[in-house]
Amino acid sequence: MNFKTSQRLSSLPPYLFVELDRKKAEAIKKGVDIIDLGIGDPDLPTPDFIVERLAEAARHPCNHRYPSSAGMDEFRKTVALWCKRRFGLDLDPEREVACLIGSKEGIAHFPVAFLNPGDWVLVPTPGYPVYHIGTLFAGAMTHFMPLLEKNSFLPDLASIPPGVLKNAKILWLNYPNNPTGATAPPAFYEKAVEFAKEHGLIVCHDAAYSEMTYDGYKAQSFLETPGARDVGIEFHSLSKTFNMTGWRIGFAIGHPDLVAGLKQVKSNVDSGQFNAIQHAAVAALESDQSCVKDMQGVYAERRDALVSGLRRLRIQAPSPKATFYVWTPVPNGHTSQGFSSLLMERAGIVVTPGNGFGAPGEGYIRMALTVPTDRLKEAVARLEKVLA
Ligand SMILES: *Cc1c(COP(=O)(O)O)cnc(C)c1O
Repeated sequence: MNFKTSQRLSSLPPYLFVELDRKKAEAIKKGVDIIDLGIGDPDLPTPDFIVERLAEAARHPCNHRYPSSAGMDEFRKTVALWCKRRFGLDLDPEREVACLIGSKEGIAHFPVAFLNPGDWVLVPTPGYPVYHIGTLFAGAMTHFMPLLEKNSFLPDLASIPPGVLKNAKILWLNYPNNPTGATAPPAFYEKAVEFAKEHGLIVCHDAAYSEMTYDGYKAQSFLETPGARDVGIEFHSLSKTFNMTGWRIGFAIGHPDLVAGLKQVKSNVDSGQFNAIQHAAVAALESDQSCVKDMQGVYAERRDALVSGLRRLRIQAPSPKATFYVWTPVPNGHTSQGFSSLLMERAGIVVTPGNGFGAPGEGYIRMALTVPTDRLKEAVARLEKVLA
């Protein structure tokens, strides 16, 4: 039999890290001491009290049956309370909250609920790949909005062609931003709400890094913006906030019709997240959030070690006030891929070439703060030798 994958699958963008992955595997095989700053996955364990709640809940037979795909009442109520405490939002847990099997799941499924062939979706680039892939899976088309340093890594909404706008349905935003580490000021969200109302757009905001912030900066919810609840849905994740990437738990909040559409898709493709995991998430969200503070302290220290080290080597790395990414310009005369390969081969340092997140990411590498401070210092020391 000759199995040919669908046009939908063949239309997916090529995977740009084949060569780099091969070099990494080779180096590991040779026994090189790799410092991996490539993946956005916390190295710290999930706090104990969350694990304990899972263990307890896993023993209860009432949690062994099918969950509801929208999420347990208790989970959705806890989410609403957390959003009240954290953002001052008053949400109806019935109609304005949905449980997700990780926010990636919701981000990928949401377009299925609202897009038709011929529709356009406005997607930031460089960016998290799932916005574009969800668009393709829904049979719609992507218009990429470049995130440029000169615009503080905010999209220039005024430059979107009128022909695209006429048939555009969704505007994706993601702040604090992966991969650039940028944050959005309230004025930008106000502009986005106005723009969405003018052009009949749904605003999908990915808030995966809302809690990973430093230096006293507090990220707001997009839904706090006046008028945002008429046009918006926001995707949240416990993955980065509570070191729970492996658990697959997140939630969506927003306009009841948008949440209902997403729930309808989900009820047809999944049967919800394991109730015991939802119970553990409840423990995380209703805790005093001191574990979140600890997490912020760890990354702020790492960030300072890496950024000051890079600057000593005359690499003008920004000091992000959110996310665990340092979006670093490559030295003159290098490309993203070239510099990443050099770091890999000569220093055993794995980073992600910026162009892998979209063409405007060329000229940058993304360094994730997912190793301890002493390893980041070691990375800077190795880099110094390479650049010497
Ligand atoms: C990590 C990440 C997510 C998804 O996290 P889940 O583990 O699926 O909840 C979503 N968006 C961005 C930008 C991310 O970096």
